[in-house]
Amino acid sequence: MLSIIEILYRQMGIKDLVDIGVVSIILYQVLRIVQGTRALQILLGLVLVLGLYGIGIYYKLYSLNWILTHFFDYFVIIFIILFQDQIRSALANVGTGRRVFGVFSRKRESLEIEEVVEVAGVFSKEKIGALIVFERNHGLDNIVGTGTKIGAEIHSDLIYSIFQSSSPLHDGAIIIQEGKISAAGCFLPLSNNVEIDRHLGTRHRAALGISEISDSIVVTVSEETGKINISIDGTFYLCSNENQLRKYLKHLWSNEKLDDQLKPIQLKD
Ligand code: ATP
Ligand code: MG
Repeated sequence: MLSIIEILYRQMGIKDLVDIGVVSIILYQVLRIVQGTRALQILLGLVLVLGLYGIGIYYKLYSLNWILTHFFDYFVIIFIILFQDQIRSALANVGTGRRVFGVFSRKRESLEIEEVVEVAGVFSKEKIGALIVFERNHGLDNIVGTGTKIGAEIHSDLIYSIFQSSSPLHDGAIIIQEGKISAAGCFLPLSNNVEIDRHLGTRHRAALGISEISDSIVVTVSEETGKINISIDGTFYLCSNENQLRKYLKHLWSNEKLDDQLKPIQLKD
C-alpha cells in the first residue's frame, strides 16, 4: 500500500494535481446540484442502465447489448436533455463565480423564517395568493433573471405589499437568496407531474416544478382556499397552520430530513 502511494507521489506532477483538483470540483458540484432532487433519481436510473449494460456484455445478451449500445451512443445528448435545467443553472453559477464550495453556504437566520411565517399567516387569513421560493444549494440565478431584481432585506411588510393584487410584481414568485429578497415576479417552470390534485392550478404546479429541478423550499398560499403549502423535492406538504409552517421551515433550514412527527400530507387525487 505504501509503495503505491510512494510511486504515485514520485510520478505525480503539479499538472496531475491540478487535473485531479478540477475533476473533483466538477464532480462535487454535480453531486451537490443533484442531491435531494429528482435529478438524483434520474442519475441513479442511468447508473442502473449502465449496470444492465455490464450484465449484458458479461452474459453476451445480444439483443440487450444492441439496444443499450445505441442508447449509450447518444448518451451525451440524452444526458444534456435530462439535465438541461441543472446544467443551465450550474453554468449560470460558474458564470457569476458564486459558491464554489458548499462550506461557504450561508447561515439561515430564524428571523427570516419568522418574517415569512408571519406574512404567510396573514395571506392565509386574507386569502391572498403568494409564491415564495427559498434558494438552498442549487443556484436559482436563471429564475431570478425572469423577474424584477429587488435585493432587499426580508421583511413581512415588503412581502405583503409585493403580493397585493394592485402591485405590478404580484404575479409570479419571489426568490429569497442568501437572506435577501433578490427578485419578484419570477416565472417558475411548471411541473408535469400527472399525480397532482387536478384542482391545483398553475401557482401550485409552478411551486412543485421548481422543487423538482432544484433543492429549493417553496411556500405557497392559495388565493382560493388560504391554505399554506410547502413543496420540496417534487412533493407537496400541507401546513395546517403557521406553527406547522414554522416547524417545517426550521427543520428544513438545518438540512434535516422531515421526521415522523412532521409527516407530509401528499396532495394527490
Ligand atoms: P390559487 O390556489 O392561489 O388560486 P392555483 O394553484 O389555483 O393557486 P392559479 O389560480 O392558476 O393557481 O394562480 C395563478 C397565479 O399563479 C398567477 O397569477 C401567478 O401569480 C402565479 N403563477 C402561475 N404560473 C406561474 C409560474 N409559472 N411561475 C410563477 N408564478 C406563476
Ligand atoms: Mg386558482
